[in-house]
Amino acid sequence: MLIYTLIIYKYLKYNIFIGKILLKKSNISKSESDRKIMDITVGQIIQTKKPHPCGGDTWEVLRIGMDFKLKCLTCGREVMVPRAKAEKSIKKIVK
Ligand SMILES: [Zn+2]
Repeated sequence: MLIYTLIIYKYLKYNIFIGKILLKKSNISKSESDRKIMDITVGQIIQTKKPHPCGGDTWEVLRIGMDFKLKCLTCGREVMVPRAKAEKSIKKIVK
């Protein structure tokens, strides 16, 4: 009986160990996607998936915070976009 509980104990410990590895892996991928976002700095030109109503899809980053302040390079209008929405809509960093 003691051996049986020991085996179960070891099995549980092993599962926790695997679980921790998986958790670590998911944390790494999460931080990697964060890093991609952190690459954006003020003054950069970005391209978004969804274009501005004027037809332009390139923006200059004016401010970064809870919201991103972006200036449309085609018509010159400035817009405030919530961070989460901006991060999702960024297609690529032009420069
Ligand atoms: Zn525009």
